[in-house]
Amino acid sequence: WAKQDGRGKHRFFTETMDAEAVKRLKMENDLRRSLANNEILVYFQPKVSCPDGHILGMEALVRWQKNGKLISPADFVPLAEDVGLIVPIGRYVLTKSCQLTEKWRKSTGQNLKVAVNVSARQFKDDDLIQAVEDALSETGLPISALELEVTESALMQNPEATKKVLEELRKMGATIALDDFGTGYSSLSYLRFFPIDVLKIDKSFVDGAPADQDANMLLRAILAMAQGLKLRVVAEGVESADQVRFLHSLGANSIQGYYFSRPLPDQEMGSLLAKKVVFTVD
Ligand code: C2E
Ligand code: MG
Ligand code: MG
Ligand code: MG
Repeated sequence: WAKQDGRGKHRFFTETMDAEAVKRLKMENDLRRSLANNEILVYFQPKVSCPDGHILGMEALVRWQKNGKLISPADFVPLAEDVGLIVPIGRYVLTKSCQLTEKWRKSTGQNLKVAVNVSARQFKDDDLIQAVEDALSETGLPISALELEVTESALMQNPEATKKVLEELRKMGATIALDDFGTGYSSLSYLRFFPIDVLKIDKSFVDGAPADQDANMLLRAILAMAQGLKLRVVAEGVESADQVRFLHSLGANSIQGYYFSRPLPDQEMGSLLAKKVVFTVD
């Protein structure tokens, strides 16, 4: 009996594995095809300057248009990272972001910056420095207008090598932002180890504020630490006027969130910029 059970289980296990593997393989192929067919889109979410309320730039956020449906990065970036497709996708997002931002800088006459997310895999498998140089020379965007967002967990995958690449990019004039700050497991000492210009406070710290005193205390502590280390601070996932006022009062440098705007397709981002809106931050 035991043997039979074991065999039965084993067969079942293999079949589920196969089904999962087949599903992933199909998704990988679909994604590869979509990249070739311009079905990878770049959306943009404005970053609002504190305290003046102007749009000082935007974050580029990738989307997958699969059979007319928009798939969010949470549902395909991890797979793209596993199979290495994040490297060509990342190059595409980088180039597109630089191209559109340069266009908007010219049309508005404003010194707009663009922030592009970078995965660990791009540090490992790609010549990120070459990718940046290519994107800038193809589009004419000055490197001072380019910010790269890296997560704490991406930094920790290969700290020494990643540090070298970031130092080089920063020497070239790029800005380095630490994304999802506070959600990783590493010690704070890495803030001094890596060349970081900007801390992006994760949405999870913003969520409770300003109603929850503990949330407020953590935000205060993060802002005080960032100011002490001379890092700029972006708060992300800001959804209410109260949160905006509170973050403003703590001295956050810029604010990003649904309260001001969801991520927009490039046409809509272009129209928003053309209006030169000034948001209220107090
Ligand atoms: P992230 O870089 O931390 O981006 C912020 C995410 O929060 C975005 O989700 C954005 O749409 C969302 N968000 C912004 N404001 C609010 C808000 O007020 N409320 C709520 N609930 N959400 C808000 P999105 O676009 O789904 O991207 C998720 C993650 O996928 C990003 O997190 C980033 O880690 C990754 N990602 C996005 N684009 C790229 C890319 O081009 N390359 C790589 N490697 N990763 C990317
Ligand atoms: Mg980001
Ligand atoms: Mg983030
Ligand atoms: Mg994130």
